[in-house]
Amino acid sequence: MAYLGENIKKLGFGLMRLPMIGGMDGDIDIAQVKDMVDLFMAKGFTYFDTAYGYANGKSEAAAKTALVDRYPRESFQLATKLPAWAGPKTADEAKQMFWTSLERTGAGYFDFYLLHNCGGGRTAVFDNFGIWDYVRELKQKGFVKHIGFSFHDTADELDRILTAHPDMEFVQLQLNYGDWESGSVQSRKCYEVALKHNKPIIIMEPVKGGSLANLPDRVGNILKEADPKASQASWAIRFAASLDNVITVLSGMSTLEQMKDNLSYMENFKPLNAEEKTVVEKARQILMDIPQVPCTSCAYCVEGCPQGIHIPQMFDAMNRYLVYDDLNAAKFACGLEQMFGSKKASECIACGACEAVCPQKIQIIDELKRVAETLE
Ligand code: SF4
Ligand code: SF4
Repeated sequence: MAYLGENIKKLGFGLMRLPMIGGMDGDIDIAQVKDMVDLFMAKGFTYFDTAYGYANGKSEAAAKTALVDRYPRESFQLATKLPAWAGPKTADEAKQMFWTSLERTGAGYFDFYLLHNCGGGRTAVFDNFGIWDYVRELKQKGFVKHIGFSFHDTADELDRILTAHPDMEFVQLQLNYGDWESGSVQSRKCYEVALKHNKPIIIMEPVKGGSLANLPDRVGNILKEADPKASQASWAIRFAASLDNVITVLSGMSTLEQMKDNLSYMENFKPLNAEEKTVVEKARQILMDIPQVPCTSCAYCVEGCPQGIHIPQMFDAMNRYLVYDDLNAAKFACGLEQMFGSKKASECIACGACEAVCPQKIQIIDELKRVAETLE
């Protein structure tokens, strides 16, 4: 059955990690971004994904300079996102974010417009500010073509949101083979919920923020043996793009070189064949077998925590370090939770309320100490 976005090529340009001049606080390297946009478009790719908050708004401005001002508006799809939970004190302030995005990009309209990062306590902010109805209104007035949301939470919560808002046209999910069966990200379960609701999917984090492109040797060797020429990232992106009902797979490309690698296997994309799927499954199994905190993200521990620590997310960050040996990504994930309202792991007061309810019998207090020592 045909679905929204079926005809879009299966690689989207994520404008989140654009090349910078002068480090992360510097300016976007617009000359390089223009070259990347030109190459991307020349190869027939058309989907661009930015957000109100990416690079403190500079990403949306870069989309204007490198893309919108240089290509006919109908020749590409531009997506951006509204993070109502990130600062606004009133509904009007949250709604104003749309108009700021429209002005920064100069796009006239957005092809795909998303409530950014639903899940956790953030969904209630969208509810309280009436943002679901607001995006419906924007669509009705022609300012956006398609409405949906990006999501970070459990499959059950995704099911609840899609049941409450059946007119959302698509979802953007964190999906990669490393997280396929993970208790925290729940890629497979979330994917299945989206299918159940008949929602096409935009995939984010197909390479798990770069972790699946920097695999431990024993996993990397399996991929190399199977295809010595294929990059580790190519396995991850092709895995995601091979799934049904996918609109596109976003890759946050930071250099022209990365883009060239992505384009080399996505220009004439071939889904993974049965043999290749077995290879990925073998790699995934080895990753799963590396000892990690056995948290399933059931969240039973969260409600009773007097400190409001996002315990499962802390363990997810820790596992990122334990499994992928990616300390920077793990620290980043841990820091992000504080931005989303969590106290630090080191602020645990050892009351024990969480351990009393954890079905996995995790020694949460000790594990949080380990998180604090390693990631703070
Ligand atoms: S022991 Fe620490 S993490 Fe657990 S509920 Fe108490 S404060 Fe929260
Ligand atoms: S109760 Fe245990 S398994 Fe469930 S989220 Fe908390 S730490 Fe993880």
